[in-house]
Amino acid sequence: MLNVVIFGAPGSGKGTQSELIIEKYGLRHISTGEILRTEIEKRSELGVLADEYISKGQLVPDEIIIKMLGDILDDEGKNVKGFIFDGFPRTLAQGEALDKMLREKNTSVVAVLNLAVEEEELIHRLLKRGEISGRSDDNPETIQSRLNVYHNQTEPLKAYYKKQGKLFTIKGDSVDDVFERITDTLNRIL
Ligand code: AMP
Repeated sequence: MLNVVIFGAPGSGKGTQSELIIEKYGLRHISTGEILRTEIEKRSELGVLADEYISKGQLVPDEIIIKMLGDILDDEGKNVKGFIFDGFPRTLAQGEALDKMLREKNTSVVAVLNLAVEEEELIHRLLKRGEISGRSDDNPETIQSRLNVYHNQTEPLKAYYKKQGKLFTIKGDSVDDVFERITDTLNRIL
Protein backbone atom coordinates (compact mmCIF):
# COMPACT_ATOMS: atom_id res chain seq x y z
CA MET A 1 0.00 0.00 0.00
CA LEU A 2 1.07 3.53 -0.71
CA ASN A 3 0.52 5.40 2.54
CA VAL A 4 1.61 9.01 2.53
CA VAL A 5 1.46 11.61 5.30
CA ILE A 6 1.10 15.20 4.19
CA PHE A 7 2.65 17.25 6.93
CA GLY A 8 2.99 20.94 7.72
CA ALA A 9 1.70 23.89 9.71
CA PRO A 10 -1.87 25.15 9.36
CA GLY A 11 -2.06 27.01 6.05
CA SER A 12 0.87 25.16 4.48
CA GLY A 13 -1.32 23.76 1.69
CA LYS A 14 -1.91 20.20 2.91
CA GLY A 15 -5.55 20.09 1.80
CA THR A 16 -4.90 21.56 -1.64
CA GLN A 17 -1.99 19.23 -2.35
CA SER A 18 -3.91 16.22 -1.02
CA GLU A 19 -6.63 16.81 -3.61
CA LEU A 20 -4.04 16.82 -6.40
CA ILE A 21 -2.28 13.73 -5.04
CA ILE A 22 -5.50 11.73 -4.81
CA GLU A 23 -6.36 12.57 -8.40
CA LYS A 24 -2.99 11.45 -9.71
CA TYR A 25 -2.29 8.44 -7.49
CA GLY A 26 -5.80 7.24 -6.64
CA LEU A 27 -5.30 7.32 -2.90
CA ARG A 28 -8.00 7.60 -0.25
CA HIS A 29 -7.92 10.98 1.48
CA ILE A 30 -8.25 11.04 5.25
CA SER A 31 -8.45 14.57 6.63
CA THR A 32 -9.12 14.40 10.36
CA GLY A 33 -10.01 18.12 10.39
CA GLU A 34 -12.65 17.60 7.68
CA ILE A 35 -14.10 14.57 9.42
CA LEU A 36 -14.38 16.55 12.66
CA ARG A 37 -16.00 19.53 10.90
CA THR A 38 -18.62 17.16 9.42
CA GLU A 39 -19.31 15.80 12.90
CA ILE A 40 -19.71 19.36 14.19
CA GLU A 41 -22.25 20.11 11.44
CA LYS A 42 -24.17 16.95 12.35
CA ARG A 43 -24.03 18.00 16.01
CA SER A 44 -23.02 14.44 16.91
CA GLU A 45 -21.57 13.66 20.32
CA LEU A 46 -18.07 13.60 18.83
CA GLY A 47 -18.76 16.89 17.01
CA VAL A 48 -19.93 18.70 20.12
CA LEU A 49 -16.86 17.54 22.01
CA ALA A 50 -14.42 18.32 19.18
CA ASP A 51 -15.86 21.81 18.69
CA GLU A 52 -14.72 22.84 22.16
CA TYR A 53 -11.11 22.16 21.20
CA ILE A 54 -11.21 23.25 17.56
CA SER A 55 -12.73 26.66 18.22
CA LYS A 56 -9.91 27.38 20.68
CA GLY A 57 -7.22 26.19 18.29
CA GLN A 58 -6.33 23.25 20.52
CA LEU A 59 -5.89 19.62 19.57
CA VAL A 60 -8.69 17.14 20.11
CA PRO A 61 -7.38 14.54 22.63
CA ASP A 62 -5.22 11.75 21.19
CA GLU A 63 -7.37 8.86 22.34
CA ILE A 64 -10.43 10.23 20.50
CA ILE A 65 -8.52 10.87 17.29
CA ILE A 66 -6.64 7.57 17.35
CA LYS A 67 -9.88 5.62 17.88
CA MET A 68 -11.51 7.54 15.01
CA LEU A 69 -8.59 6.77 12.71
CA GLY A 70 -8.48 3.11 13.72
CA ASP A 71 -12.16 2.70 12.82
CA ILE A 72 -11.59 4.23 9.37
CA LEU A 73 -8.58 2.01 8.69
CA ASP A 74 -10.57 -1.07 9.71
CA ASP A 75 -13.54 -0.09 7.56
CA GLU A 76 -11.71 1.01 4.46
CA GLY A 77 -8.22 -0.51 4.63
CA LYS A 78 -8.98 -3.52 2.45
CA ASN A 79 -9.96 -2.07 -0.88
CA VAL A 80 -7.68 0.90 -1.26
CA LYS A 81 -4.35 1.48 -2.98
CA GLY A 82 -3.25 3.53 -0.03
CA PHE A 83 -4.10 6.48 2.15
CA ILE A 84 -3.09 10.08 2.25
CA PHE A 85 -3.16 11.23 5.85
CA ASP A 86 -3.86 14.96 6.02
CA GLY A 87 -3.72 16.61 9.45
CA PHE A 88 -2.85 13.32 11.13
CA PRO A 89 -0.64 12.50 12.98
CA ARG A 90 -0.34 15.72 14.96
CA THR A 91 1.42 14.38 18.06
CA LEU A 92 4.12 11.78 18.72
CA ALA A 93 1.53 9.53 20.35
CA GLN A 94 -0.56 9.68 17.16
CA GLY A 95 2.51 8.93 15.02
CA GLU A 96 3.37 5.89 17.09
CA ALA A 97 -0.25 4.72 17.06
CA LEU A 98 -0.39 5.09 13.27
CA ASP A 99 2.75 2.99 12.83
CA LYS A 100 1.28 0.33 15.09
CA MET A 101 -2.10 0.27 13.32
CA LEU A 102 -0.47 0.02 9.89
CA ARG A 103 1.97 -2.65 11.07
CA GLU A 104 -0.99 -4.75 12.17
CA LYS A 105 -2.22 -4.52 8.58
CA ASN A 106 1.24 -5.45 7.23
CA THR A 107 1.81 -2.04 5.79
CA SER A 108 3.52 1.23 6.74
CA VAL A 109 3.95 4.93 5.97
CA VAL A 110 6.17 5.24 2.88
CA ALA A 111 6.71 8.99 2.89
CA VAL A 112 6.05 12.09 4.94
CA LEU A 113 5.82 15.17 2.74
CA ASN A 114 6.70 18.15 4.89
CA LEU A 115 5.45 21.41 3.36
CA ALA A 116 7.73 24.22 4.54
CA VAL A 117 6.23 27.72 4.54
CA GLU A 118 7.37 30.89 6.37
CA GLU A 119 5.27 31.83 9.39
CA GLU A 120 4.34 35.24 7.99
CA GLU A 121 3.00 33.63 4.80
CA LEU A 122 1.01 31.05 6.84
CA ILE A 123 -0.74 33.80 8.80
CA HIS A 124 -1.47 35.73 5.62
CA ARG A 125 -3.00 32.63 3.95
CA LEU A 126 -5.08 31.66 6.99
CA LEU A 127 -6.50 35.16 7.40
CA LYS A 128 -7.38 35.22 3.72
CA ARG A 129 -9.01 31.80 3.95
CA GLY A 130 -10.95 32.99 7.00
CA GLU A 131 -12.69 35.62 4.89
CA ILE A 132 -14.38 32.90 2.85
CA SER A 133 -14.13 29.60 4.73
CA GLY A 134 -16.50 30.40 7.57
CA ARG A 135 -14.25 28.19 9.73
CA SER A 136 -14.49 29.02 13.42
CA ASP A 137 -10.72 28.67 13.76
CA ASP A 138 -9.54 30.96 10.93
CA ASN A 139 -9.40 34.16 13.03
CA PRO A 140 -6.30 36.00 14.32
CA GLU A 141 -6.40 34.75 17.91
CA THR A 142 -7.08 31.11 17.09
CA ILE A 143 -4.55 31.13 14.25
CA GLN A 144 -1.82 32.09 16.72
CA SER A 145 -2.72 29.31 19.11
CA ARG A 146 -2.86 26.78 16.25
CA LEU A 147 0.64 27.82 15.20
CA ASN A 148 1.88 27.49 18.78
CA VAL A 149 0.30 24.05 19.05
CA TYR A 150 1.95 23.10 15.77
CA HIS A 151 5.41 24.12 17.01
CA ASN A 152 5.05 22.54 20.43
CA GLN A 153 3.12 19.35 19.77
CA THR A 154 3.31 18.53 16.06
CA GLU A 155 6.78 19.60 14.91
CA PRO A 156 8.55 16.96 17.07
CA LEU A 157 7.16 14.41 14.60
CA LYS A 158 9.66 15.69 12.04
CA ALA A 159 12.54 14.17 14.02
CA TYR A 160 10.53 10.98 14.50
CA TYR A 161 10.09 10.49 10.74
CA LYS A 162 13.54 11.78 9.87
CA LYS A 163 15.02 9.02 12.01
CA GLN A 164 13.01 6.53 9.96
CA GLY A 165 14.34 8.08 6.72
CA LYS A 166 10.84 9.02 5.60
CA LEU A 167 10.82 12.81 5.88
CA PHE A 168 10.88 14.78 2.61
CA THR A 169 10.85 18.55 3.02
CA ILE A 170 9.26 20.44 0.17
CA LYS A 171 9.26 24.19 -0.28
CA GLY A 172 5.59 25.16 -0.02
CA ASP A 173 5.30 28.17 -2.33
CA SER A 174 2.98 28.04 -5.38
CA VAL A 175 0.42 25.26 -5.87
CA ASP A 176 1.81 24.01 -9.20
CA ASP A 177 5.47 24.09 -8.18
CA VAL A 178 4.75 22.31 -4.92
CA PHE A 179 2.81 19.59 -6.71
CA GLU A 180 5.63 19.11 -9.20
CA ARG A 181 8.09 18.64 -6.33
CA ILE A 182 5.69 16.21 -4.66
CA THR A 183 5.29 14.09 -7.80
CA ASP A 184 9.07 14.05 -8.32
CA THR A 185 9.51 12.85 -4.75
CA LEU A 186 6.78 10.21 -4.91
CA ASN A 187 7.89 8.92 -8.30
CA ARG A 188 11.40 8.49 -6.95
CA ILE A 189 10.12 6.45 -4.02
CA LEU A 190 7.70 4.27 -5.98
P1 AMP B 1 -7.26 21.00 10.13
O1 AMP B 1 -8.45 21.05 9.24
O2 AMP B 1 -6.36 19.82 9.83
O3 AMP B 1 -6.50 22.29 10.19
O4 AMP B 1 -7.81 20.73 11.61
C1 AMP B 1 -8.64 21.66 12.25
C2 AMP B 1 -8.67 21.39 13.75
O5 AMP B 1 -9.19 20.08 13.99
C3 AMP B 1 -7.32 21.39 14.46
O6 AMP B 1 -6.90 22.69 14.82
C4 AMP B 1 -7.62 20.52 15.68
O7 AMP B 1 -8.35 21.24 16.65
C5 AMP B 1 -8.54 19.47 15.10
N1 AMP B 1 -7.75 18.31 14.59
C6 AMP B 1 -7.64 17.93 13.29
N2 AMP B 1 -6.83 16.85 13.19
C7 AMP B 1 -6.42 16.56 14.45
C8 AMP B 1 -5.55 15.59 15.01
N3 AMP B 1 -4.93 14.70 14.23
N4 AMP B 1 -5.36 15.60 16.35
C9 AMP B 1 -5.99 16.48 17.14
N5 AMP B 1 -6.79 17.44 16.69
C10 AMP B 1 -7.02 17.50 15.35
